[in-house]
Amino acid sequence: MASYYNENTIVYLNGKYVKASEAKVDLYGQTLHYGLGVFEGIRSYRTVDGNTKIFKAWEHYDRLRKSAEALNMPYSWHDVDLINATYEVLQRNNLQDAYIRPLVYGPANMSFNLNAESHIVIEVWEMGKFLGDKLLRVMVSPFQRPNPAGFKIEAKACGHYVNSILASQDAKAKGYDEALLTDMNGFIAEGPGANMFYEKDGKLYTPALGNILPGITRATIIELCKELHIAVEEKQSTIEDLKQADSAFFCGTAAEVIGWESIDETKFPLDWNKSLGKVLQQAYKDRVTEQDLAHERLDGGKGLKSREAIAGR
Ligand code: PMP
Repeated sequence: MASYYNENTIVYLNGKYVKASEAKVDLYGQTLHYGLGVFEGIRSYRTVDGNTKIFKAWEHYDRLRKSAEALNMPYSWHDVDLINATYEVLQRNNLQDAYIRPLVYGPANMSFNLNAESHIVIEVWEMGKFLGDKLLRVMVSPFQRPNPAGFKIEAKACGHYVNSILASQDAKAKGYDEALLTDMNGFIAEGPGANMFYEKDGKLYTPALGNILPGITRATIIELCKELHIAVEEKQSTIEDLKQADSAFFCGTAAEVIGWESIDETKFPLDWNKSLGKVLQQAYKDRVTEQDLAHERLDGGKGLKSREAIAGR
């Protein structure tokens, strides 16, 4: 098992900075027993300027609050305070390139009744940038995503991840790298922990919102497509559509942008290095490290492309 903390690790717990090894959680809580809790997966990066930057911090804390509200969990925190607390936890743990996991959980309550309060913990651990560039062999999972008629599917809720774990472990047991889940109608939905896009005839397609987690990376990719003049459409697609596609990729906070080799036994014909996914993978890296901002600043709009270009003058 991976080691997420050691005896020196600090977490933010209900307004205090405490040692992870000394923090306690109640064994009689709704979250542990019934999965009624919400969380976020966020990343911070060391930018090209050497600063620590939490990528899309506001968007993530906004989604955390909305997730809690969707599950009727009391939520008394302000985004700005949690963002400041997150920077503080990163600093106290001496981390720049990190994975950040805020979790909102309930107090002791074995009933199904509303909780009077919620608790929050923010954990951080080191995550190196851009690991693994190997293309994934993806399998259409026999597990479907939870039906939005039975779950608040737009919430990042703890209990939903039983579905993700079942699908991911099943795909790996069958020799694939990852699962692709459909929605309750058999349309393409998402991966266990990532959204997906596919390319066909120079255009990108991604499942429309409604039956998927509205990913912040997905929104970033759509934003980058607009900037780069890449056509992108949000729509329902079938597995047959995907098998006719030229190329495909997952995107998510942890996964960043990662290309696919195949879906079931069908290989994608387009060389990943020539795909729109590859262009977006680079654009995403430049965005999270603020490389693209550095270009703009140095450039002053005059077309210079890098620090090296400046230094070389
Ligand atoms: N779908 C699911 C089910 C996820 O768990 C994640 C990871 N949070 C995503 C999509 C991607 O979301 P994001 O880009 O906000 O990390």
